Amino acid sequence: MLRVTDLNIFYQRVHAVQNVSLAVPAGQIVTLIGANGAGKTSILKAISGLVRPTSGAIEFAGESVVGMSPHDVVHRGISHVPEGRRIFPNLTVMENLRLGAYHRGNHKELGEDLAKVFHRFPVLHHRRSQGAGTLSGGEQQMLAISRAMVSRPRLLILDEPSLGLAPVMVDAVFDVIQSLNQEGMTVLLVEQNATMALELAHHAYVLETGRISMAGPAAELLNDSRVKQAYLGE
Ligand code: ATP
Repeated sequence: MLRVTDLNIFYQRVHAVQNVSLAVPAGQIVTLIGANGAGKTSILKAISGLVRPTSGAIEFAGESVVGMSPHDVVHRGISHVPEGRRIFPNLTVMENLRLGAYHRGNHKELGEDLAKVFHRFPVLHHRRSQGAGTLSGGEQQMLAISRAMVSRPRLLILDEPSLGLAPVMVDAVFDVIQSLNQEGMTVLLVEQNATMALELAHHAYVLETGRISMAGPAAELLNDSRVKQAYLGE
């Protein structure tokens, strides 16, 4: 579904992403793990049109998305939940959700999408008229994921969804990702919590200072001694 080939990203002289190639097959969860500053967020931003790569190809459903605006990328079916969630704290929960659908010319399906969101997250229904900034961190992450889902993506990109959350909410976020995937959603997941990411994902890539150092089925990387030592704290 998504294929990134020989991606390079420079920030002035910093070569943040170096010849990265990766693939996200339809129906799978693919995770990208690596230390802070390895370049994970940069790769996600390039896919979403938020950062212009210096070179390389990014194909989604057979079409190049390099050079497209973020808006056009969403329109093609890629929805990105950024690190830090970036919900609008002064808007209500409902207003935040409506923003997820704003790019769709026709809003008649919105009611259906909202019903799905509220079925999945009853707390968002209870709090729909409340300012989103009053939600807990975990609830805000649920809102951010829901807002992304309302755009009806074919590929959901999640950047550090568990960052800063209480352990019980971390479990809840991973459960949500798993259930979305079981319902057919394709997911590209960047996570600091490498153990949980590898347990959840089908396939994984390890990024070290801008380069892919290892790749394979997530279950294999979970048992790899180098991965265990460097990323799983074992
Ligand atoms: P984190 O988990 O901390 O977000 P990351 O793996 O996502 O890290 P990136 O945020 O992609 O890494 O950053 C990769 C490298 O590029 C880092 O050295 C970072 O300092 C640098 N970098 C990122 N954004 C910019 C920018 N806008 N201008 C200059 N350098 C940047």
